Amino acid sequence: MTKRILVGNWKMNLGPKEAGLVAHRLASLAVNLKKTEIWLAPSAFSLQAVLTAAAGSPINIGAQNTHWRESGAFTGENSAAAAKELGAGFVIAGHSERRHVFHEPPEESAERAAFALNLGLSAIFCVGEKLEDRESGRAGEVVSAQLSHLFRKLGDNGAGRLIIAYEPVWAIGTGRNASAQEISEAHGSIKSLLKKNLGSDAAPILYGGSVVPDNIAEILRTPLVSGCLIGGASLDIGKWEAMIADSEAI
Ligand code: PEP
Repeated sequence: MTKRILVGNWKMNLGPKEAGLVAHRLASLAVNLKKTEIWLAPSAFSLQAVLTAAAGSPINIGAQNTHWRESGAFTGENSAAAAKELGAGFVIAGHSERRHVFHEPPEESAERAAFALNLGLSAIFCVGEKLEDRESGRAGEVVSAQLSHLFRKLGDNGAGRLIIAYEPVWAIGTGRNASAQEISEAHGSIKSLLKKNLGSDAAPILYGGSVVPDNIAEILRTPLVSGCLIGGASLDIGKWEAMIADSEAI
């Protein structure tokens, strides 16, 4: 059975000490899970601490927003190759904060994902519309355009490690999650685009946006949801325990 993936996106939170403590607690929970995989994306400075704290556990640990070149004169950027050398298994690319706070062009988000995939890492490629796009009926068009940049850059062998995260921008960190109907419609359209452009719709599609213990069960029961990308609630071990218990119970 394919396991459900719960990804903690720690953004620029949890320094090495705190991140290591949460990862250590999660590592002891992760060994007994039957239906759930835990993935963690700490900030770059906490990556090594988290890898050390979770060593020997099934937790998959990754990096956020890595660059599309292996190395070079890119002050302030992070190398996917260096993350892989440390032991990272995946990267997150195209997060809405990169796209809308840092104004990252869509082709750059796609390059970041494609480079990591070509290195042999998994990539979680985030897509999602802003509130004004949804209100004007353009949500599908926006997501399709974001994906089209990725399809153009994807090499021959990366698609098998691709994961899509549907994260409506209006739901991230706002306490307002998308409804089951909105989620399954968006995931259905993404699946069709994957099939049309990659010849397979097997890539897991995660939902992200204000996932918390109170709503995770309903979201995981929504058709076509393979797991969740979780920001705020993933910083708290108590919330992890509740969310994992729900995931295992469904
Ligand atoms: C995210 O960081 O991708 C996210 C969905 O955050 P939150 O769960 O806090 O909305």
